[in-house]
Amino acid sequence: MSKQEKENSEKEKEFLAFIKEAGLVWGPSPEIYGGFAGFYEYGPLGKLLKNKVENSIRRVFNSQGLREVEAPTILPDIVWKASGHLETFSDRIILCSKCKSVFRADKLIEEKFDVSADSFSDKKLLEFIEKNSIICPSCKGQLEKDITRQNLMMKTKVAGEDASLRPETATTTYLPFPRFVSYFRKKLPFGVFQIGKAYRNEISPRQHVLRGREFTQAEGQIFVDPKTKNSWDKYEPIKKEILPFWDYKSQEKSEESVKPISIEDALKKKFINSQAYGWCIYLAYMQFVNFGIPKEKIRLRQHHPDEKAFYADDAWDIEVKLNNYGWFEMCGVHDRTDYDLKQHSKFSGQKLEFKNETGEAFTPHILEIAFGSDRPTYALIDLFYEKKGLGEGKTTFSIPYHMAPIDVSVFPLIKKPELFKIALDVKEELERDFIVDYDESGSIGRRYLRSATAGTPLAITIDFDSIEKNDVTVRDRDTEKQIRVPIANLRHTIRQLINGDIEFEHAGKVVK
Ligand SMILES: [Zn+2]
Repeated sequence: MSKQEKENSEKEKEFLAFIKEAGLVWGPSPEIYGGFAGFYEYGPLGKLLKNKVENSIRRVFNSQGLREVEAPTILPDIVWKASGHLETFSDRIILCSKCKSVFRADKLIEEKFDVSADSFSDKKLLEFIEKNSIICPSCKGQLEKDITRQNLMMKTKVAGEDASLRPETATTTYLPFPRFVSYFRKKLPFGVFQIGKAYRNEISPRQHVLRGREFTQAEGQIFVDPKTKNSWDKYEPIKKEILPFWDYKSQEKSEESVKPISIEDALKKKFINSQAYGWCIYLAYMQFVNFGIPKEKIRLRQHHPDEKAFYADDAWDIEVKLNNYGWFEMCGVHDRTDYDLKQHSKFSGQKLEFKNETGEAFTPHILEIAFGSDRPTYALIDLFYEKKGLGEGKTTFSIPYHMAPIDVSVFPLIKKPELFKIALDVKEELERDFIVDYDESGSIGRRYLRSATAGTPLAITIDFDSIEKNDVTVRDRDTEKQIRVPIANLRHTIRQLINGDIEFEHAGKVVK
């Protein structure tokens, strides 16, 4: 192991220790039974963070007219036959000739090299592994010279009938199509989304919650009349927006070849095929900007023609540059055309068509924004966790204020009944809008430190002046500056500070 590799693995170890100790993510779970690979628990702090991520997703989709639905997670196998999952949803695996461990051939390559091995043929995978002397990561043994396939569906039986746990929310969102048409008053386009669990029997999942066997997806599906894809109403207001497009031809050059251009130019250069798709990619990008992920850590990567699903027209991924794993796929935006509705029409025997005002019947196309809440949650921890110095060094978690798991801490300065009373009143008032952590134990310095380590942006202290003047001290997590704010304005002021509507120093009287 080189010095650099040693340092990186040391950093990763510290990071994983932080994730566990802070109550963010535990596992593989159940830990007391030794852990089941690919399954994790979100602890209290992690679940609050994941909720923030999901609520941000809901806000963005709802603001664009998409509505949330919830479908079952177990469906009879005829559905998965229609979708193609039973036949083709598999990973290419390679065995270690010594310890017999099983690995995903493409991931084994991608973990070590900055290439997208997804599009490699079986032959190319084997050649790459041989040429770069890739060996078994567990025992350092030689890998076998053979690629086989393993289906990823989790099978079960319901009342004797073969069924499977869903490997994606998407398919389950398409099935109530006739109900959607009537709910959305027989008008196209319309959009729906789901946030919910999906399951994949991944081969040797590594990379923590980024690649679990059970995970939470968040997928938006927009049903459109294919003839309107290039006269898209919502395109005009966003066409000048500059996005970090990285087309597949530039990918062959270098990482620096990402050239941010406008959506309009991307369409002119034929990076993307339609205005409607341009709007979808913008909507997906805005999800990540709204999570507070810095723009320079986001890029849009076009799929290589070999890598695209056979039915997909346009396909791009959103990638985020993580500290631990480098550029990582977070979201796929696909034009799935009429593939899904046609398949389900064929297998169910139901006509899944749309009739326009002139009585013409056609199969709508589906544009999809496919991501989940686990990866963005992980990304927020990865990007905003920082360990300063080695060993006993200070740990900071400077997550953007609006995404912090806990919004505000409330501390009585010392253990005195008259301070407790005000502190509890303040806590109750703030809990109408916020997640509040109330803490009266330990020195005030320790409580500030605990609060900051949890990423809580603001800490409120009630002291003896509070009794006289009906105000409190508000302390900023990052600058450690303090202001005095009247209790009467507190809820409003905290809201403004968390939303970034006001400068900290202007929100109250600065304490010198
Ligand atoms: Zn091995």
